[in-house]
Order: sequence, then C-alpha cells, then structure tokens
Amino acid sequence: MKKVLALLLSAVLVPLCAQKDETETIKSIYTHALTQQQGYAWLKKLTDIGGRLAGSAEANQAVQEFQKVCDSLGFTTFLQEVTVPHWVRGPKETAYYTLNGKRYEVAICALGGSVATPEKGLQAEVVEITSFEQLEAMTDELEGKIAFYNIPMNPAFINTFYAYGSAVKQRYVGALEASKKGAIGVVARSLSSSINPYPHTGSMTYADAERQIPACAISTRHAEQLSKELEKNPTLSFHFKMAPEYRDSVTSYNLVAEWKGSEKPDEVIVIGGHVDSWDLGTGAHDDGAGCIHSLEAVWLLQQLNLMPKRTVRVVFFMNEEFGLNGAKEYARLSKKDKVNHVIAIESDAGGFSPRGISMVAPEDLKERIRGLRHYLEPYGLHEFSENGSGADISQLKTDKLVMIGLRPDSHRYFEVHHSSQDVLARVNARELEMGSATLAALIYLLDKNDIVAP
Ligand SMILES: [Zn+2]
Repeated sequence: MKKVLALLLSAVLVPLCAQKDETETIKSIYTHALTQQQGYAWLKKLTDIGGRLAGSAEANQAVQEFQKVCDSLGFTTFLQEVTVPHWVRGPKETAYYTLNGKRYEVAICALGGSVATPEKGLQAEVVEITSFEQLEAMTDELEGKIAFYNIPMNPAFINTFYAYGSAVKQRYVGALEASKKGAIGVVARSLSSSINPYPHTGSMTYADAERQIPACAISTRHAEQLSKELEKNPTLSFHFKMAPEYRDSVTSYNLVAEWKGSEKPDEVIVIGGHVDSWDLGTGAHDDGAGCIHSLEAVWLLQQLNLMPKRTVRVVFFMNEEFGLNGAKEYARLSKKDKVNHVIAIESDAGGFSPRGISMVAPEDLKERIRGLRHYLEPYGLHEFSENGSGADISQLKTDKLVMIGLRPDSHRYFEVHHSSQDVLARVNARELEMGSATLAALIYLLDKNDIVAP
C-alpha cells in the first residue's frame, strides 16, 4: 500500500516539481533581461552605425562589428557571401504643387528601386486613384499624367500588419500598373497607420513594364492635403524631383554565430532577423530589434547556463528588404551542407511589447506549443496564432520544421516603419528586452520538452 502511495505521489509530484523548476527558470530569464538590458546596448551599437541599406558600407560594417561581438561571447562564427543589389537614393527628394502661382511643398521619398526623374524634375497634372478597380476601369485618363495612389491602411484591422497587407499593392506594383495606362510618374500614399509628415519608403517592382516611371511615397499628411486640394482644383500641377540609381551589385554577407549542442549537436535551432534596413532611419525596429532579440535570446541562455541540447544558430540575414538574397543563400547552403534544422524562429515585427507568437508546424507540435502557454502568459503573451512565421526563415520551410515568428504589439509599428522615425529613440528598452526574454524562454521550453518532429 505504501509503495502504491509513493508511486502515485511521485507521478503527481515529479511533473509538478519540473513545472515549478521551469517556471522559476523562465522568471530568471526575464529578470536577467530586464536588469541587464544588454540587448538595448547592442541595439544602440547597431543603430549608431546608421541606416543599413543592402549594398551600403554600413550594412557590411554591421556584419563585421557583430561578428566581433559574437566571437567575444565564444560563438563559432562565419560569414556567408551574398551578392546584393545596390540602389542608392541620391540627394534628398523634393516635391511641391502649385496653386494660383503659389508653391506648396510636400514631403516625399523615392520608393526603393525607383528610377530617377529627369534632372529638372517631373511636372504634370495629377489623377487620384483610390482603388485598383478604379485604375482598372481607366482608359486614357492617366495619359501623360502623374498617378496619385491614395489608398489608406484600413484602420479597422486590429493587427496593423493586415492593414499594411491590404494597402501595400499601391507601393509595390503602383508604377508598373500606372505605366500601362500611360502615366509618367507615381506618387503613392505612405503606408503608415497614422497621419504624420514623414514619407515611408519600401520596395517596388517594374517587373516587365515597357516603361519604367519614377515612383515616390508622399507622407500621409500631405496625401490628405493633396487629395483635398484636388477636389477643388483638379488640374493643379505637381512637381517632384529625385535622382536615385542602381550601381553595380555588391558582395555582402549573412552573419552566422553557432553554439554546438551538448546532446544533439546535429539538430539545429536557427533564430534570426535581418541586418539590412531602409536608409531613411537607422532600422531600429525594422529589423535591428529582431537581430538583437535573436542574439540576446541566446546570450541570456548562455549567461544562465541554460544552453540547449541542440545546436543553436543566430543568423543576421542580409537583404530582406530588397529581395531576400541572404535568406535564399542561407537556405541554399543549408541544403547543400545537409544542415538539419528542427526549429526556426524569426523576429521581424518590431521591438514593441511581445504579445505572443505565430507558428507554422506539424499539427501535433502546434498543440504541444499551445500547451506551453501557461509559462508565457504571465509575461503578457496570449497570442498563439497560425499566421505565418517570417520571410527569412520561410525559405527553410519543410513539412517537419517548427517555424515561429515573434508577434509584438503592432499599433505603433507602422508609424515608424521604413521612415526617418525608425530610430533608437522610438524603441523602449523594457519592451525590447521582453522580446529577447520571450525568445529565450521559447528556445528553452521547446528544446527541453523536445518539441521537434522526429
Ligand atoms: Zn523587416
């Protein structure tokens, strides 16, 4: 009888003890992150380098400086060569419209990949477009005119990434589609969730367009203003001038920092963000925060003697913004070298308070990950959704891979995204640290509980 009781007790107590241990371990991770704030110091170091457009000297400098950081922490580091396009913005862009002989300046920036205007600028009447259906129905209305896309991000979405997704077409293919209708230039409303005076850049494509026409983003404030003026003065004249250009492709690098697993070194957990950024700000949220989250997550485990059984790789991917070259090369080399990734984690949604995770994984593993939520809910993590993971790690997708994207609060992200406002001053140190601690806790829990496909 005593034996049975003891057995019963141990069956209940052992998991309870393990749970208590794990709860305390996770608490220690958050405590260490919030008291040391190593990630915030690293983010300062990274953003002090400046904007890190792929192909720029700053992008490569960031890789070199953080390789030194990783070396000093005892990681095995190596670089993977990546050829990246090198687009350069040129002098600050200018734009204005004229009404009754008076000039009204507006804030614009060239979209990434745009061609230049003529040297003296481009001047024409403007046609406002508020939907792609409207554009589709047009015959010759855009002939010789500037197409002005004014499609706001829908404020009704709770997650602003969906609002971004619903409006991004004007930026990405706006020039391609308008050129087919005879437009000579494009002004696209900035993809921002608030009304502000800052233009927000981002990538665009000409695909197989017969004519490549210059395309810029206008600040949301000035898009509203221009729209109002056009109601009263439909023939007003708009002028913009910019001189971006493509230069020769450049050799750049992914940074890989590896820590060999103690028990299962052949199984790899990869965690990363993209080190390149747009050039208007310093890429503090997009995606300096993601790189630092990844590095600090592993650093936290290292500091607390919690390094996983499996090998961990921190990757700073090069050139997510201009074509995912780094992620594609990382995937290609991994396949060639038969690297067995079992878990892939990405942070590329900003350095704001983490709200949860989104996952792509085999059904049974997703269920087991949801089973971990009680460990994370005390830290404000409630979202365990299935809305993708991340653009860089998606290149590694297989049926077995557990892929996870960090999901921070999104309400402020698109106020700064791809603009001059994406700087360290817009990052809250505590919120950033919460992200790093969350990823550290996740790696710890997934590895310890063997939540990987066989
Ligand atoms: Zn990004």
